[in-house]
Amino acid sequence: MATASLTGKNALITGSTSGIGLGIAHALAKEGANVVLNGFGDSTAIAKIAEDLKRESGRKVIYSPADMSRPAEIREMVKVAEREFGSVDILVNNAGIQHVAPVDEFPEEKWDAILAINLSSNFHAIKAALPGMKAKGWGRIINVASVHGLVASPFKSAYVAAKHAVVGLTKSVALELAEETEITCNALCPGYVRTPLVENQIEQQATAHKLPRERVIREVILAAQPNKRFVETEQLAAFVTFLCSPNASTITGSAFTVDGGWTAR
Ligand code: NAD
Repeated sequence: MATASLTGKNALITGSTSGIGLGIAHALAKEGANVVLNGFGDSTAIAKIAEDLKRESGRKVIYSPADMSRPAEIREMVKVAEREFGSVDILVNNAGIQHVAPVDEFPEEKWDAILAINLSSNFHAIKAALPGMKAKGWGRIINVASVHGLVASPFKSAYVAAKHAVVGLTKSVALELAEETEITCNALCPGYVRTPLVENQIEQQATAHKLPRERVIREVILAAQPNKRFVETEQLAAFVTFLCSPNASTITGSAFTVDGGWTAR
């Protein structure tokens, strides 16, 4: 797979203080992009993440504490990025949360939070960043959906609903932009990736099923993932880098699975 040279491009990755988003930030910076980090966490730890990334890549790195459940903060994040870097050329909508419960017991505030962070934030960030991309005639929008954007699992009603909607949003935005030859919008649909989000689920399931962690991983978490291996964040990040390359300029409106065969069933 050809890799892109992203020197001179500016990338904003939501939810990039951890897991998949952080992996994508590293990969894009390595390819030459300046990076806006975003997400929650301990402020000293985040400052170190930003400093390490700056030192390793030699690129500009800034951090936005914007809360993806608050549209005004999302708009402000894009504005600050454009002011500091001149543009947002690559937008990776990655921030996400999970909650697992039967639908008739699903807490309403968790439903609202998942829809806001996993879905509506994508809309608000795209709406805010798109005028700048159109002005420059170049842009890459990558929405990190999930295999749960294409198929369902029980007890994840809010997450599955939000991620299916992210795939729909991706297609609609791609069609609107189809004649903008250098602006694309795609979704990434990973199976299980070993990140803090999944580590929490392993702990919860181990307690719920009274099983050791290794059995939970194989028999519960990876039950639907035929290759029985986690996707690596580096593999997803490499794919995002490819989507940002010139060779990917006709790829738009697609939902790419990286799922060890999950959706082949
Ligand atoms: P993670 O918990 O490691 O990281 C989530 C990031 O989102 C963190 O930086 C966190 O601070 C940030 N975040 C959470 N709420 C936020 C908010 N309100 N505002 C701003 N930032 C916020 O999780 P991850 O596994 O790296 O997940 C990243 C994305 O990938 C999510 O959208 C998730 O649904 C998706 N995904 C994950 C997996 C997996 O197996 N880990 C699989 C498919 C899809």
